[in-house]
Amino acid sequence: MGQDDPRRLIPRTDRILAHPEVRRARERLGDDVIRSIVQDLQGQARRGELAPGDVEPGVLAAISARKATSLTPVLNATGVVVHTNLGRAPLSRSAREALLAAAGYVDVELDLPSGTRSRRGAGARGALLRACPAAEDALIVNNGAAALLLATTALTGTGDVIISRGELVEIGAGFRLPELIESTGARLREVGTTNRTHLQDYESAIGERTGCLLKVHPSNFLVSGFTSSVGVDQLHSLAVTHGVPLVVDLGSGLLAPDPALPDEPDIAGALTAGADVVIASGDKLLGGPQAGLLLGRAEVIARLARHPLARALRADKLTLAALEATVSGELPPVAAALHVDPIRLRRRTEALADAVGGTVVEHDGRVGGGGAPGVPLPGWAVRLPEDAAPRLRTGDPAVLPRVHGGACLVDLRCIPEDDDETLTAAVRAALAPAGERLESGSS
Ligand SMILES: *Cc1c(COP(=O)(O)O)cnc(C)c1O
Repeated sequence: MGQDDPRRLIPRTDRILAHPEVRRARERLGDDVIRSIVQDLQGQARRGELAPGDVEPGVLAAISARKATSLTPVLNATGVVVHTNLGRAPLSRSAREALLAAAGYVDVELDLPSGTRSRRGAGARGALLRACPAAEDALIVNNGAAALLLATTALTGTGDVIISRGELVEIGAGFRLPELIESTGARLREVGTTNRTHLQDYESAIGERTGCLLKVHPSNFLVSGFTSSVGVDQLHSLAVTHGVPLVVDLGSGLLAPDPALPDEPDIAGALTAGADVVIASGDKLLGGPQAGLLLGRAEVIARLARHPLARALRADKLTLAALEATVSGELPPVAAALHVDPIRLRRRTEALADAVGGTVVEHDGRVGGGGAPGVPLPGWAVRLPEDAAPRLRTGDPAVLPRVHGGACLVDLRCIPEDDDETLTAAVRAALAPAGERLESGSS
């Protein structure tokens, strides 16, 4: 480096780290994060991409913009209510409060009056049992797949799980329930055919090796035409006659029937029809945190809770807190989005279109998350030019629209009404000519 080389002017690391604002930020972000920010900006200056004098202000700006998590909040403008790529169910306000309350030391496994150990997650369990009186007991694990794994493993060991060929489901990203069940040594005994399975098929498969009967709700596909399957009530009679437990995996996890989703089975209904254990996810239609719910007969739930896998699959305190608040608190956002008032939705959509200069078009939302595949949720969207989509996704706040038929569609179904103004500003920014976007970005 020559005497005149501007790179000599790049501030040294120790000088930047000594800046009072940087020193304060070290408590919040940690040394490694701060050093990498400093090195990044020094690197830019060395490559001539940044003036040496801008390194220190750049570090200060980067530090103040730095969030505690790299996860970016997204406004879901797709109309897909349970959006897997967006973390499925957004939590209600009370569930968010519960998360914060549970973040420190909490009595998750302690009885404060006596000072002795208590049953883990009693509050969440109690809330579920109050919401679903048809269940004698409940167990909460990490997710629906874990619940299925625990139930089939604890009830069958290396025995047979009897299941209809029409219910061998792949749940997404290449994960198949049959492979999951077999992964612990249980054996699948498939009965019937893809389109039709009869009670007799189950009956003739029952034998010495039978561990349980499993009925899986094929939540992410539809079989129509010449079809038949065996209901929970019929399977219950068979299970009782042969003394084998009946496990029903519902997937979506409605606690009670929902008129908006007439074909979606619910937990209370399956228990009343005679299931010994019902399995559901916490973050699909229930609208809570990721969790696997097992509800059913006390004796069967106790057997599952005693199995060593139960410890490996248990839910953490944050999940338990958010689940309790979801089940016993206000209507979760998932339910609000499913039952949105069409007149209000239309009015909000028109207001957005007026404000940004788009066109209102009819647009069906969807349940998503592999649930209710054939059910459209009629509504509207604002149609924008397709090239607005990437700008919306990378804007601040990030907005995920639907790209379809050469257009960018903004559906307000899953946007909380409180965010309408924020959304309008984000769409305006995405539609602004490039020059104006730069100016607003640098101000
Ligand atoms: C979604 C689903 C699962 C898996 O539940 P996760 O909570 O995603 O682990 C299992 N069974 C069925 C029928 C499902 O729909």
